[in-house]
Amino acid sequence: MGEGPVRVAVIGVGILGAAVGWNLSRQGAEVILIDAAQPGEGVTNWSFSWVNASNKTVTRAYYELNVAGLVACRELAAAIGPSSWWYPSGHLRWTDDPAAEARLLETAELLAAWGYGVEVRTGAEARRLEPALALPDEAPVVFYPDEAWVHGRRLVGRLVGQAAAERRFGAGVREIGTGAGGRVEAVVLSDGSRLGVDAVVNAAGPSAAQVAALVGRRLPMRREPGVVTRLSCADVPIGRVMHAPHVEIRPDGDASVVLHSREIDALIDTGEEPAELGRLLHASARRVVPGLGGARVGETRVAFRPIPGDGFPSVGAVPSVPGYYEAVTHSGITLGPVIGRLLAAEILGGKRDDLLDGFRPERFTP
Ligand SMILES: Cc1cc2nc3c(=O)[nH]c(=O)nc-3n(C[C@H](O)[C@H](O)[C@H](O)COP(=O)(O)OP(=O)(O)OC[C@H]3O[C@@H](n4cnc5c(N)ncnc54)[C@H](O)[C@@H]3O)c2cc1C
Repeated sequence: MGEGPVRVAVIGVGILGAAVGWNLSRQGAEVILIDAAQPGEGVTNWSFSWVNASNKTVTRAYYELNVAGLVACRELAAAIGPSSWWYPSGHLRWTDDPAAEARLLETAELLAAWGYGVEVRTGAEARRLEPALALPDEAPVVFYPDEAWVHGRRLVGRLVGQAAAERRFGAGVREIGTGAGGRVEAVVLSDGSRLGVDAVVNAAGPSAAQVAALVGRRLPMRREPGVVTRLSCADVPIGRVMHAPHVEIRPDGDASVVLHSREIDALIDTGEEPAELGRLLHASARRVVPGLGGARVGETRVAFRPIPGDGFPSVGAVPSVPGYYEAVTHSGITLGPVIGRLLAAEILGGKRDDLLDGFRPERFTP
């Protein structure tokens, strides 16, 4: 790279791109934030947005990365201010299926052994936290006091607003120019403008494979759509994020609630209309929170999870293309703040953090 500040184009400004760009700009890089559409309006705005490590026990390394994600979210809230995006009110989880209940309690035990905040309560105790819930008094309910939810679009807005960066929104990257040794040296936007850069970050979410292809790289991605519905209600009857039987529910601000369910996701490919999927989600939510009966189903959207082929994040440099970096992951609401910090340190200081071992892009390089 030449003399003077490093000039980095961040391609895609969802939570991943915004977090990387904000960290880079704080550390003195010249940052160009580029989004084909508007920042924060991709998957980040159609996410369940639960910040957790309790659902990430598939490997110890992935769990530790998500714990670091939780810590980084808290630190980010302290750095930029928590208002309107950070809701650290804990998480309640219970089920009506005996086999799933046994797994839930087993996972709670494992997490307690790993030092994670977890408490097993009864339905009656859970109702003291959430009086609007309909659930049996004796049902075991697992409470994770340190978990949270995030308003993704507002967080992106805050990070973009606070980053000292050039902003290019409404025109996507259609070409990445390379020079001697295959080093990245420019990006070309769909409006024809060409910008000279020292490095690019592929943070294009579900479109990451197309951006990787611009440097001749094949990034395998899974196809895992999910459906999210927003309900409008005059008074939001719940105070925290919850996994209830057959539906996940969280507040979404003063007059809105967000719903999601893996069971309803399974209907996406049957050709059912999104509006019908929204009605089904509402029906499930009313059984758990009868007070949502009067809420109105607002917009329902099918979004694609940005999941690399083996299910884990792809974060860091690709040595065969100097100056090209990836920041592509599912669970990006939880992981965006920590990935943003680690990747900025890697781009500017060459520091490869051990937390990212096992999640590096090289594993997809033949
Ligand atoms: C149903 C569902 C539920 C989820 N639940 C959770 C959860 O509970 N907790 C959690 O942590 N995560 C969850 N996730 C995952 C999380 O939402 C994503 O990992 C995260 O939002 C990804 O952010 P991103 O910045 O990578 O992508 P996006 O927010 O999609 O941003 C990518 C941006 O790139 C832009 N772009 C694309 N191509 C180009 C181009 N060529 N040039 C310029 N810009 C381009 C797009 O316009 C977009 O704005 C969920 C996802 C889904 C779908």
